[in-house]
Amino acid sequence: MQLFEMTWPKVEALPKTTPVVVPIAALEQHGRHMPVFTDSLLLGEVVRRAAEATKDKVLFVPLMWLGNSHHHIDFPGTMSASPRVYLDLLIDLMENLVFHGFQRFVLLNGHGGNIVPAQQATFELRQKYRQRNDLLIVSATYWGLGGEPHKVDPNIKQQRMGHACEWETSMILRIAPHLVGELSRVEPVEFGTGFEPAQRAWITKDRSAPGHIGDPRFATAEKGETLFRVFSADVVALLERMIAWNGKSWNG
Ligand SMILES: [Zn+2]
Repeated sequence: MQLFEMTWPKVEALPKTTPVVVPIAALEQHGRHMPVFTDSLLLGEVVRRAAEATKDKVLFVPLMWLGNSHHHIDFPGTMSASPRVYLDLLIDLMENLVFHGFQRFVLLNGHGGNIVPAQQATFELRQKYRQRNDLLIVSATYWGLGGEPHKVDPNIKQQRMGHACEWETSMILRIAPHLVGELSRVEPVEFGTGFEPAQRAWITKDRSAPGHIGDPRFATAEKGETLFRVFSADVVALLERMIAWNGKSWNG
């Protein structure tokens, strides 16, 4: 179900245990070969497939395209909410749903810079409503739900998300090939080790002059279809678990 299509009486009539998905993405540079709306286009497609599969069992809020992208702000066109503003925005989005009586939410994320704010926002919301025992508050990033696309299609070389990389470029080739530039001229940019396994703070210019991270030359629309299939199946599986939750247990 799509919230933007509904009247308020229809929303009021929904079972309050209906899981509500708040898709959160970004508008930021994606190298010289990909559009700035990449993350929003990709999450939009994952959400479209998940909504089709879950029909009237799950409510989807319109995708929030403004994300936490300050690490990309040196590149023209990037739009970003500063981290603390973004945190409050996410908390407000979920708190609106609490106010309307809903009990089960997921911030479904499609952008690396939103991972920490989404976890922090859900953490803070849980503390704020600590007297409640009927809330299920979850954050999830679509490529971080266990899917291993390279095991489904061995031609997929990349094994984790990069930026405007083989994965993302393949998925845009699948849904909007006219937005992808000439790939033969794109140079690969190594993921590098940073200070792993520690988390080193970074801005994109620390790692990449053109803006991408990974090797987009290996992208194909066929790989993009596999990636969408794997990732949307993972999202549907998570939503099924949220539907099946017994309302009390820690486990789910
Ligand atoms: Zn991206």
